Amino acid sequence: RAIRSRGWPRYRPPRSPCLRAEKPGGTTSAPLVPALRRSPHPAGGFPAMATPIETHVDLASLPKEERLARMRHSAAHLLAEAMLELFPDAELGIGPPIDTGFYYDFRLPRSLTPEDLAWLENRMRESVARRLPFQMASISREEALERWKNQPFKLDLLKDLEDGAITQCTHGNFTDLCKGGHVNHTGEIGAFKLTSVAGAYWRGSEKNPQLQRVYGALFETEEELAAYERQLEEARRRDHRRIGKELKIFELFDETGPGHVVWLPNGATIRRELQRWMEDLELERGYRHVVTPAVSKRQLYVKSGHWDHFHDAMYPVMEREGEEYVLRPMNCPSHIMVFASELHSYREFPIRIAEFGNMHRWEKSGQVSGMSRVRIMTLNDAHIFCTDPAMVEAEVEGVLRLMEHAYGVLGLRNYRYRLSLADPDDKEKYVDNPEMWQQGEALLRRVLDRLGLNYFPAVGEAAFYGPKIDVQFMTAAGKEETLSTIQVDFHFPRQFGLEYIGEDGERHQPIIVHRGVISTLERMVALLIEEYEGNFPLWLAPVQAVVIPIADRHQPYAREVAGALRQYRLRVEVDDRNERMNAKIRDAQLQKVPYMLIVGDREAEARAVSLRVRGEGDQGSVPLAEVVERLRRERDERLLV
Ligand code: ATP
Ligand code: ZN
Ligand code: ZN
Repeated sequence: RAIRSRGWPRYRPPRSPCLRAEKPGGTTSAPLVPALRRSPHPAGGFPAMATPIETHVDLASLPKEERLARMRHSAAHLLAEAMLELFPDAELGIGPPIDTGFYYDFRLPRSLTPEDLAWLENRMRESVARRLPFQMASISREEALERWKNQPFKLDLLKDLEDGAITQCTHGNFTDLCKGGHVNHTGEIGAFKLTSVAGAYWRGSEKNPQLQRVYGALFETEEELAAYERQLEEARRRDHRRIGKELKIFELFDETGPGHVVWLPNGATIRRELQRWMEDLELERGYRHVVTPAVSKRQLYVKSGHWDHFHDAMYPVMEREGEEYVLRPMNCPSHIMVFASELHSYREFPIRIAEFGNMHRWEKSGQVSGMSRVRIMTLNDAHIFCTDPAMVEAEVEGVLRLMEHAYGVLGLRNYRYRLSLADPDDKEKYVDNPEMWQQGEALLRRVLDRLGLNYFPAVGEAAFYGPKIDVQFMTAAGKEETLSTIQVDFHFPRQFGLEYIGEDGERHQPIIVHRGVISTLERMVALLIEEYEGNFPLWLAPVQAVVIPIADRHQPYAREVAGALRQYRLRVEVDDRNERMNAKIRDAQLQKVPYMLIVGDREAEARAVSLRVRGEGDQGSVPLAEVVERLRRERDERLLV
């Protein structure tokens, strides 16, 4: 068939890691098999019926973004060219530029290996060295169908193209269906590297075949590419999935299923500290905590509207004794039940109902990731029932202040506020009630403005029942993620017919503010691991101090030291393994334990410890009483932020 370069020596699946030795050349300009530069088409790389289009560009005159987009798009052609040489039967999908480079989707006879990527990259560099022009041409539909008759995905793309609007691009022997937007020749492509392979469905639909998506990074200069790689490296270094495993914070097992996190003792400790701290802050602010079931009858979620609007993200229905039950995807209906359990008078408002509530959401497989996007989660949730918009404003303000306080304590600074609005054209996703949306939006804007918080609006990001303020954080991988959220809701009160007795003795409808301050414990801990790179502040560190006896005879004193700290609920362990002291110190360092208390004869005698502090090293001998005091103070200081 037309786009295949026939007769190119068949690439053998890598046996040895020494692929470069087998196929040397790398960036040299000499073609591997010069005889094969013969074109499959008589008219120099494009069929006779194709009409060339002049596309010369003065790259230097273009804005950088466009120049990069052209380089990235052009590099994708080189990748497809190389792939067809590796696998003559490869089926080509699409290959667009992205904001750090490009990708191309392929259906291949087997999974790609790192060695394949190295080979492909070298092959691409050969085309770069040849400075082959990119030649655009328009072709008839008939010609295109013939040319790509063995490429089912190209044929699928052709279905959407009208005769007269079909163009292709050729460089050397390779021709692809293409809208255009290249550099002039392959020598202008910039600095690139193939980085990874991921699965992707054709046209993004699970109903279609799964393809292998090869990613490349591409920047104008080697320096920019290197800077990007450093950034990737930093992301890997801070990756909570890696650190979470090393520090024994959580595990994900095949047996428990994706997105179902197992919190190990260290993780459970961090989680408990966060929860206690936040519950105390909520108690100070007039919240009352409840405990409600994660399973309810399906009917509850039909009434709330979740079944209509959120059904795809729910676990399937469970049936027992003629009833249908579901795992809750949100806690709102449960808290509404609490509210409705008695008839309230206006004097009781605002009524703040809080719970670390566990929720279950069937997140898409491709999106589930570590602890930051999971399927079973516990949200720092609360619902504040208000009598009128003025009270809503005051409560939203109070929540924003609580959030700012919490970020201060946690030392988080890398965030911005997003005003999440409905898409008025999407009647499917959002409750249709324009007046309610307008009122909610205006109210949230007023509070943000009053507090002088910068924010940006985002259409199509609202909850299905109302607009929200979301707090967007940057993850180590450079992705923005929602952490905290505040939502104004006129919808559920109507849906559930909620009422209270007003000052006038009549019945009125309340308004609900939904809010999550430290998000789900899962996402929060993922973020904190990355933020601290595992070096948790003392109050959150799973093990706050390790006592290391130098010899066995120092164990009794080591236990005494541990006891003195435990009296103040400091989390301390004695490392009584039969290991050398240096090995114990190294292990404690790897586990990022904030304090090491080393005890030998002299320390026992002086009722002191030899103190080593994480990040600061050896502090010499310090009296035990002083160490206890120092740790206590440091742990409790966070409350004063
Ligand atoms: P997202 O846009 O991230 O899917 P959402 O808008 O569905 O979130 P809410 O229903 O408001 O989120 O849930 C409250 C908070 O719970 C979110 O702001 C987010 O911090 C957190 N959260 C939501 N889904 C997940 C998940 N799958 N894993 C971990 N945390 C989550
Ligand atoms: Zn192109
Ligand atoms: Zn809610």
